[in-house]
Amino acid sequence: MFAVRVDWPDGTHEFFGPMATVETAWTQSGRVQRFWRQGPIRPLRVEPVTTSVNDFDLHRSRVGCKSPDCPVPPAAAGREAQR
Ligand SMILES: [Zn+2]
Repeated sequence: MFAVRVDWPDGTHEFFGPMATVETAWTQSGRVQRFWRQGPIRPLRVEPVTTSVNDFDLHRSRVGCKSPDCPVPPAAAGREAQR
């Protein structure tokens, strides 16, 4: 299962979805990015992530999540691993 992860400048993140395929998640990422381009606050990053039903459900009730244990996009995970 996939979701769109949106990272905010204040260090919080949220997930949109869920989506069945990564293609749908990329399409949705583009939409989210275009939407926020007009806004006063712009997300740092909008990218699809692989997620579980549990992770996704957790974020429904968890607003302003800053946990480092949450699913991150593969590119970002790679950057973390290189440190
Ligand atoms: Zn989280």
